[in-house]
Amino acid sequence: MQNLNILVIATRNKGKTAEIRDLFEDFPFGIKNLEDFGPIPPVEEDGSTFDENAYKKASFTAKILGLPALADDSGLIVEALGGAPGVRSARYAGENASDEQRCARLLKEMEGQTNRKAAFECVISIAVPTGPALTYEARVEGLIAEKPAGSNGFGYDSIFYYPPLKKTFAELTRNEKNRVSHRGKALNELRDEFKKVLTWIDQHMPVMEKFVHHEK
Ligand code: IMP
Repeated sequence: MQNLNILVIATRNKGKTAEIRDLFEDFPFGIKNLEDFGPIPPVEEDGSTFDENAYKKASFTAKILGLPALADDSGLIVEALGGAPGVRSARYAGENASDEQRCARLLKEMEGQTNRKAAFECVISIAVPTGPALTYEARVEGLIAEKPAGSNGFGYDSIFYYPPLKKTFAELTRNEKNRVSHRGKALNELRDEFKKVLTWIDQHMPVMEKFVHHEK
């Protein structure tokens, strides 16, 4: 397979890679993730926005591997907490905390709060090795539940109540969640435009001058 027909998902997460592979199975290119390339230095996710972090991950991976790369960054934004945990969603209760510990910490911060409004946001960035990138963003609004419910999903799903379905995200099946979630919506938008995205990637991939044979 030629390099141009490969898209690297900038993650080592099997679940994320499988989800993305499912979505793009009709398209003529191969999906790889970081596990396919051996050790690569980790990217510091120290940006102040999801956009910054998604672009950082995608462009770093594209540059280092010389291939187009896709990265997503996402998190939970709680109105009454001034937008926290936001870009710190994964580290909210310390580096090695579990999902349960993160949810417990958030519920504690929300004790006595009547404004329970929250949203998940997701930004997807697709970058080529020379720097340019495309961005897709989506958001889903809900409420922070009083206590956890449901056992599907991950992260803050068990305390994110989604009023239109009267359930937390952890009480939805994967398909139900993908239809309404921030990541599902952003990925679907991307899939709808994927033919154009492939053309864009093609036009922005650097030509490897060294290997081009010039006719005299
Ligand atoms: P990242 O995009 O993998 O960096 O995820 C950031 C963090 O946000 C995750 O570790 C979760 O804690 C939280 N998060 C992102 N998306 C979801 C979701 O769909 N459900 C629950 N938590 C999420």
